[in-house]
Amino acid sequence: MAKLQLQGIRKRYGAVEVVKGIDLTVNEREFVVFVGPSGCGKSTLLRMIAGLEEITGGTLLINGERVNETAPDKRGLAMVFQSYALYPHMSVGDNMAFALRLAGVPKEARDRKVQEAARILQLDSFLDRKPGQLSGGQRQRVAIGRAIVREPRAFLFDEPLSNLDASLRVQMRIEIARLHRTLGATTIYVTHDQVEAMTMADRIVVLNGGIVEQVGTPLELYHAPANLFVATFIGAPKMNILPATARSGKNGATLLDLEGSGPIEVPGDASLQDGQPVSVGVRPEHVSLAESGLIGGSVEIVEHLGDETLAYVMLAPGRMITVRVAPDADVEVGDRVSLAVRTEAMCLFGADGRALRVPNLRQPRPRQVALA
Ligand code: ADP
Ligand code: MG
Repeated sequence: MAKLQLQGIRKRYGAVEVVKGIDLTVNEREFVVFVGPSGCGKSTLLRMIAGLEEITGGTLLINGERVNETAPDKRGLAMVFQSYALYPHMSVGDNMAFALRLAGVPKEARDRKVQEAARILQLDSFLDRKPGQLSGGQRQRVAIGRAIVREPRAFLFDEPLSNLDASLRVQMRIEIARLHRTLGATTIYVTHDQVEAMTMADRIVVLNGGIVEQVGTPLELYHAPANLFVATFIGAPKMNILPATARSGKNGATLLDLEGSGPIEVPGDASLQDGQPVSVGVRPEHVSLAESGLIGGSVEIVEHLGDETLAYVMLAPGRMITVRVAPDADVEVGDRVSLAVRTEAMCLFGADGRALRVPNLRQPRPRQVALA
């Protein structure tokens, strides 16, 4: 299995730089997800790793060896695309065996590898069918099977589930995660979908405009986003961002005056200047209906999702906050409500959008360590 190292990787198309110097190590057996909005450079970066796109600057190492100039088929990587790119006239089995046949692998060995991949992917009974006789999810499994039989040093996935409907996406997400556990293969998985990133990744790389905004475990990004971009990109519904101004309170406390309501007290030494503008980030589950809360407003929209209810509360004109309340909460459109904020779980951001680390605010949970 492979360890991949990206050192200052850049890509320019003419005068436009679309990948602007990426440093990253993907460890052996790790499942790393590149996530970011459309056009941020995810596919370009993955294609440079695969060798399908020339690297303009920087160094790409696979197991310590520079591969910038190495042909794609000599890198030992296998890529799975959103468009399955199967040969329609070939059977499932022949599609999966195709690359092996080109590589001159004898028929017996080819068959064995295809059978094994088909078993892992539960495609055993479909090997004689043509791609046209399969569902979208089955076709994507064939595309994955075609990658598996090559026994690559790492798998590269580019939005492989984007063509599938929502329920199938969830099912395939679980299958790919299971496959990763079975094969233990180094994997880079590209998606614009933060839920896929959160559920599948050992580590997430958040990309935006050709740069890395943050690298971390899903919960690190969720609880301790490095900046406003990550704070609002990871998590659905989005983290609430409320503009505020800092001032000193009694006994050395720091208070934040929220525009239109407030103040709230920062639990801990935030080292903020009087009058310093900050953004307060609060996740919807850290706001609750309260008898006499810190902030208040009128309920504009109520969404009943079954297991939870989302209330959208207007604090001031143009300032809406999302509140995750219990499914049976007594809340209706037009209600005036008072809201409590779990201040120890809030995030603070400076005027430059970067997170301010405050000692007493909740730290990300430590990574779970499996028992031996
Ligand atoms: P993502 O996969 O994150 O949606 P891409 O990596 O496909 O984004 O594209 C990143 C940026 O590079 C986009 O602005 C895109 O328009 C540009 N781009 C991609 N391929 C080319 C190309 N062959 N020539 C010029 N610009 C390109
Ligand atoms: Mg893309």
